[in-house]
Order: sequence, then structure tokens, then C-alpha cells
Amino acid sequence: MPVYGELVIVVTPRGKRGLHRVLENQDLHTRDGVLRMADIAQAEYGSEVLTSQGVPYRLYRPTLSDLVQGVKRQTQILYPKDIGYICTRLGVGPGRTVIEAGTGSGSLTAALAWFSGPTGHVHTFEAREEFQKLAAKNLDKLGLLGENVTMHLGDIAEGFDGVTGADALFLDVRTPQAYLEHIPEACCPGAALAFLLPTVNQVTLLLEGLEQGPFDDVEVCELMIRKWKPIVDRLRPEDRMIAHTGFLIFARLQEKSDLWERFRVQSLGTRERKQEASRRQRLGLPPLESLESAEITGSSTEDL
Ligand code: SAM
Repeated sequence: MPVYGELVIVVTPRGKRGLHRVLENQDLHTRDGVLRMADIAQAEYGSEVLTSQGVPYRLYRPTLSDLVQGVKRQTQILYPKDIGYICTRLGVGPGRTVIEAGTGSGSLTAALAWFSGPTGHVHTFEAREEFQKLAAKNLDKLGLLGENVTMHLGDIAEGFDGVTGADALFLDVRTPQAYLEHIPEACCPGAALAFLLPTVNQVTLLLEGLEQGPFDDVEVCELMIRKWKPIVDRLRPEDRMIAHTGFLIFARLQEKSDLWERFRVQSLGTRERKQEASRRQRLGLPPLESLESAEITGSSTEDL
């Protein structure tokens, strides 16, 4: 049962959904008449409450997806499909520290705070005060502006405000390659990193930046959700879909080692060797052959 002060999702028979806080004497005035808060506060989740015109509205407990889509937005926001994958890939959770920039409207911040719980911590950075204020308001409304969230106002060109040892970092800014130099100071070795960029041109620039190191294990992907019409005797995809939100780029903060490189290149096929040779040339690294013939000592592990 939604108690006073809690958020509730209200769904109309026409399929409209709204996120509302249950507040005494703050009845909802809808096109179907008045929906009384006193009735909502006495109803069970999953039940129907009638408006003054007798139209049934359904009540649900909000999921994280409802909450992030409920934020007021003045910037582009992240959507649940990307948020879910980003959080799992970054290992956001209890006891982990994650850095995020920019905060924007705070949709990802809300999810990071939700997954981090009281023992994790989110450091979120935003250069523009008006967006930071909006995000703080959004998080507060969702009940997710807890002590596990620190909102930093500032340009990450200046670094990450003395934060060190973060387990994960996510950048949703236009030119993330410009800030890569600050990542080693702010994150622990091996930290999981992710970036979201809307265009291929931006991805290329970021990849060039990541190539300079100390980064490795780079992956580029995009996620698409194709909804289907849930009609049993005519089951088929919807005609339209949101085909592109952004490219996701994942990497690890990782110093390169010659020993690792030597074993890595051994596993390359002919085409990959050619690509590796031109990459080494582009970066001004010694040619492949010299890497393979060099006397390199170091600890080894058993075959994995
Ligand atoms: N991920 C956010 C969300 O889900 O609501 C949206 C982020 S929005 C696309 C990008 C934000 O990054 C903007 O609010 C912008 O002001 C901020 N930003 C851009 N460059 C920045 C920088 N160098 N330092 C801090 N914030 C920056």
C-alpha cells in the first residue's frame, strides 16, 4: 500500500503513466476527473482507484526504470537500456565508488545511487550550476539524494576534485578524450571505465586517446531494443524503433606491459597482425618483430 510521502506510478486505461508523490490534500486533477490522494493511500499496489468520473486508474510501485524516466530534463538523458548495461559492466554496487560526469539532468546519477546503496559512493561532476541544481532536485524528488552521493560543481578539465581510488568511472561529455589524463589519479588500477558518445566521429577521437594509454581491454558497442506487438495471433515487431541513442565504449585503466604485449601478439591472425603493425607505426612504437625477438623477463602465470 503506498503510504504518504512515497512515489507511486499511476496508469490510465489509455496507457498514460505518471510518477506522483502521495501527499495529503494534493489530489490529482486529471482529464477523467479528480483522483483523490486519500483513495490512493488506502489502495493496494496493483489495484484500481476510481476518479470522480468513475474511470479506473491503476497503481504500481515504481521501478528504477520508472524513476529515471521520471526526471525533469534539460539535457539529453540516458535511457534504461543503456543504464542497465553500463551499471553491470562498471560493477556499480555496494561498497564500490563510482565517478560520473556530467551529471546533466541526473538520470544516470539516480541509477548509480540506487545500485550503490548506503555502502557505495557516487561522485558526480557537472560544469553548469543550473544543471547541477536540476539534477539535485530530481534526485531529491526520487528519494535518491542520500549521503552516498557527492555532487561536485566544476569542469573535469581541472580533474576530479581530489577523488582517488574510484573503482569505476563513466563519462557522458562531448570530448571525453580531453579528460583521460585525469583518470589514473582518480581511479584505482584496473578500474572499469565507460563512455557514451552519439557519433562515430567522437568515438574515433576517443579511441585515439585511449590508444595512448594507460588503457586497455577496449570495446565499442551499441544497444538496440526492438519492441514487439504482444498480440498472440499476430506476433510481430513494432514498425518503428529508437534505433540509436549512443555508442558505448568500455575500457580498463591498465598500464601496458611488454611481456603482455609479446604474448598477446602471438595469438593474432594474419589480418590482426597487419592491423597491429600499422597501429604500432601510427603510435611510433617499435615494430612487431622487435617485440617478438626482444629478451623480456617477467613473472608468468599458468596458461589461462
Ligand atoms: N548522463 C546525464 C543524464 O543521464 O542525465 C546527461 C549528461 S549531458 C548529455 C552532458 C552534461 O555534461 C551536461 O550537463 C554538460 O554541462 C556536462 N559537461 C560537459 N562537459 C563537462 C565538463 N568538462 N565537466 C563537467 N561537466 C561537463
